[in-house]
Amino acid sequence: MAVDLHLHSWFSDGTDDPESIVDVAAEMGLSAIALTDHDNLDGIPRARAAAQTAGIELIAGTELSVGWNGEAMHLLVYFLEPGSGPLQNKLTEIQQGRSNRNEHIVERLNELGMDITFEEVLSEGEGTGIGRPHFAAVMVAKGYATDIRDAFDRFLASGRPGYVARYRLDAIEAIELAVASGAVASIAHPHTLGVAAADYREAFTTLTAAGLGGIEAYYGEYEPHLRDHLAQLCADLGIVATGGSDYHGHYKPDLRIGVGRGDLQVPDTALEELLAWRDRHTDRFKASDH
Ligand code: AMP
Ligand code: FE
Ligand code: FE
Ligand code: ZN
Repeated sequence: MAVDLHLHSWFSDGTDDPESIVDVAAEMGLSAIALTDHDNLDGIPRARAAAQTAGIELIAGTELSVGWNGEAMHLLVYFLEPGSGPLQNKLTEIQQGRSNRNEHIVERLNELGMDITFEEVLSEGEGTGIGRPHFAAVMVAKGYATDIRDAFDRFLASGRPGYVARYRLDAIEAIELAVASGAVASIAHPHTLGVAAADYREAFTTLTAAGLGGIEAYYGEYEPHLRDHLAQLCADLGIVATGGSDYHGHYKPDLRIGVGRGDLQVPDTALEELLAWRDRHTDRFKASDH
């Protein structure tokens, strides 16, 4: 059976309810999904309740933007349960950093001559988990960009005039906090890191030593040969080849739950291996082993 370990609801920058994501995943015959909203676990209780009804497994997760070699790296964190814990306790600070950054983006866009208010962006994002795709959607609605991609390419991407940096954890710090929280960290869509595929092994060895548990090897945007290359690298490093659609609802209309652009299939062994990795590596679970 297949799983999807990378999904966004409107608790961050997706457009669907957690319940509807769970229902679609169940209809597609997936055995498990991970809800991985950016920087928060707020959708997990609703997704979990829906998953119980639908008879599929729900993994609590989040996707963090962390600093790595001066660049932003996206890190998926699995089995991070809502409540308090070493990494959970950092989420408030990260969310505050996001919120401060968002206010600065509005100022930037206004300076660039766009008539956009923070209220409009809040309303686009249903008031929660506001991120750059919500700015992009307002820019499109008001005619300042032709589509979401255009809004990023010209204004919101790193290095563009509407970009504002925000508080983030360092990659190693985030990985160590994840492990200390009984969770497992996996590098999301590594092709966005500006590292050549041939250099991944060298690049990720230090992170693996720090407690990295996986790399997102199955992802719709890659060519199949890159998925194979990453899966082999994970096997060599003793970590897990994870994968998912990165579904965002309307904001990424070409990506579908479970299948990405149509040809994605993430084996359920990925989840079994993540659980096994967690049991081997996290203190909390080691303690309950005997
Ligand atoms: P934020 O977390 O608010 O900084 O926004 C980051 C999110 O913006 C990512 O998770 C993607 O969903 C989206 N994103 C980043 N770059 C692009 C892009 N070039 N085109 C479309 N969406 C993007
Ligand atoms: Fe996103
Ligand atoms: Fe991402
Ligand atoms: Zn994502």
